[in-house]
Amino acid sequence: MTTIAPDKAVRRLKHDIDDRPMIVIWEVTRACQLACKHCRAEAQPQAHPEQLTTEQGKALLDDIASFGKPLPIVILTGGDPFERPDLYELLSHGASLGLHMALSPSVTPKLTQETVRQMHTAGANSMSLSLDGARPETHDAFRGFSGVFDDTLRAGGWMRDDKVRLQVNSTVTRDTMAELPDLLRIMFELDVHLWSLFFLVPTGRGQQLKTLTAGEIEDVLHWMADIADMIAVKTTEAPHFRRVLVQRARAQAEGRDPRDLENRGETYDYLTRETERMLTEWEADGHTRPQRKPRPPIDINSGRGFAFVDHRGNVYPSGFFPQHCGNVKELGFTAVYRDSELLRSLRRPDTFHGKCGMCEFNQICGGSRSHAYAVTGDILGSDPTCVYIPAAMREPHDRPGHAVQAPA
Ligand code: SF4
Repeated sequence: MTTIAPDKAVRRLKHDIDDRPMIVIWEVTRACQLACKHCRAEAQPQAHPEQLTTEQGKALLDDIASFGKPLPIVILTGGDPFERPDLYELLSHGASLGLHMALSPSVTPKLTQETVRQMHTAGANSMSLSLDGARPETHDAFRGFSGVFDDTLRAGGWMRDDKVRLQVNSTVTRDTMAELPDLLRIMFELDVHLWSLFFLVPTGRGQQLKTLTAGEIEDVLHWMADIADMIAVKTTEAPHFRRVLVQRARAQAEGRDPRDLENRGETYDYLTRETERMLTEWEADGHTRPQRKPRPPIDINSGRGFAFVDHRGNVYPSGFFPQHCGNVKELGFTAVYRDSELLRSLRRPDTFHGKCGMCEFNQICGGSRSHAYAVTGDILGSDPTCVYIPAAMREPHDRPGHAVQAPA
């Protein structure tokens, strides 16, 4: 297990997050031919008539580039971005401005080896694919079509072979969690650059799916910390992964086993056992167990270094909030990001309500604002998917001596 100093377990943003975001996700369309069970966008077969036009989209990219260096990363998502005939033009325009452009396509007949190459040439440095299960029946049931699992592996292979940086996004639910160790093997085979585990927010079509308990999520986060020296991992809507990493680094610095922290349960034991089984098979098949330096996650959160623009130009703190903070056609993205009251409040974790506001980790975590809002109705409320009890809320004899200082 790699040793990492507690103050290096999480990367801190170097620029002023009140001034500029690090990542902007732009939902270029809601049109999509798939009907995924967890779809945030509740995607439709046809594009909305008020979707941003090519010129409005280019103006948005110009505005994002006006933040200056370091320029934000812009991820084009959908729906399916390939439903836009001007996708190549938008990617080229963003790349010509110096923006780091990324693409998140759906796996449909429009995604071919040829279109992957075209978009890579246009400026999509990285692409992401969704893979929610290690078995065809699990993934295809999630996506609403049979054959999508095989098509996704094929598309991932094209990206790997063409040296496109590949991110794979996997939704963790009660139905997919058991397949994580076998999904890890697929990540090795596809040589993915980054594996993102998405902890489902009960919104959009995802309301019908089975989310994990806070205890189970804690177990998955500890398991992710274990595999981080084999593959680069990140979470979506579980920023307390960063708290787990700092706690483990502190335990390690004090000579304790980082896996012996409180709040670990049967899910962790299952995932650990199954991962060992998978790795043994991987080695028996003639492969070497991967090894890499862990890639510390960065401390951004909804509205705090991160923003989402929907297909009509409305700006949100993330893609899982129903309330927008302004429209790029009326105000411009830079003004909305800097001046929206809602976004500004999300950049002040010490003013959050309940335990997230009192938590000594809130500057590096802050909790999933989307989970807090979806479950409690309070955008600044506590994240119900985190088991941690902040030191300030514990009885004095319960307080861990190592957990009272926020990381530098
Ligand atoms: S209590 Fe809130 S801020 Fe603290 S670790 Fe949990 S989610 Fe993060």
